[in-house]
Amino acid sequence: MIARVFSPYKEKFAIPRQPGIVTAATGKVVLLNKANNIDLVRDLAQFSHIWLIFVFHATHQQGWKPLVRPPRLGGNKKTGVFSTRSTFRPNPIGMSVVRLEKITYINKQVELHISGLDLLDQTPIVDIKPYIPYSDAIPDAKAGFAQEQPSNSKHVSFAQKARNTLDSVQVEFPNLQTLIEQVLAQDPRPAYKQNNSSTLHEASLIDKTNFDDKVYGIRLYRFNIKWRLISASTIEVFEIH
Ligand code: SAM
Repeated sequence: MIARVFSPYKEKFAIPRQPGIVTAATGKVVLLNKANNIDLVRDLAQFSHIWLIFVFHATHQQGWKPLVRPPRLGGNKKTGVFSTRSTFRPNPIGMSVVRLEKITYINKQVELHISGLDLLDQTPIVDIKPYIPYSDAIPDAKAGFAQEQPSNSKHVSFAQKARNTLDSVQVEFPNLQTLIEQVLAQDPRPAYKQNNSSTLHEASLIDKTNFDDKVYGIRLYRFNIKWRLISASTIEVFEIH
C-alpha cells in the first residue's frame, strides 16, 4: 500500500458505481511511508486526471464467484466477473480515473486532492498513474451492456428541516447539498427496487402497485441523511443529522 483515501463516503451504500458521475465528491489521497516523498509526484500536477489502483478492502473477505449479477442488468441476470467492474473478483483490485484538483505538501505530508471519486473512506491505494487521453480514451470503443451511463435520474428535494441543517453547516461543508443531490439523483436503491420503465404507462403502474415508501439512510462525511421516495421520480431528503 502506498497511500490511503479520505472520502466523504463512509459506507458502500450509495457510492456511485463509477468515478466522474458524482463530480461534487471531493477527497484526498494521502501518501504513506516511503511513497510520502514529494519527488514521487514531481510533474504530476501537469495532468488533470489520474488513475488510482486500489484494493476493495471492505469486501475482499467475502470472496468471489465466476458469475456475478451486475446492477446494470437489473440485478438478476448473471455474467462473467471479468465482463464487469464487480468488487468481488479473484484479485480484489479496482481502478478509477479521478480529477486531480491540486497537490499539497504541508509538514512533509504529500496529499493529492481529488474529485469525482467512487471510493470508500480509507481505501488502500496500491498505485497512482497519470491519465493519458491519447491512449486511455477510445471514443469509438464498444462497451456491451454498459455503453451509456445509467439514466435512472431522480429529482431530489429537501424538506425544511433538512434545509435548516444544510444552512447551519454551509460554511464547513459548502458542497454538501450538491453532493447529496448528485448521489441521490442516481437512485442508490437496489436494482430490483428501481423503476426503469421506459413508458409513462409502465411508470404509473409501478407507482401504484409497487411504490417504495421505505426510509433510507446514507452516510456522507459525518452526516446521516434520511430520505425516501415521494413519487416515482422524486426523492425527498427529510432529515440530516
Ligand atoms: N471504478 C472502479 C473499477 O472499475 O474498478 C470501481 C468500480 S466498483 C463497481 C464501485 C463500487 O465499489 C462502489 O459503488 C462501492 O460500492 C464499491 N467500493 C468502493 N470502494 C470500496 C472499497 N474500498 N472496498 C469495497 N468496495 C468499495
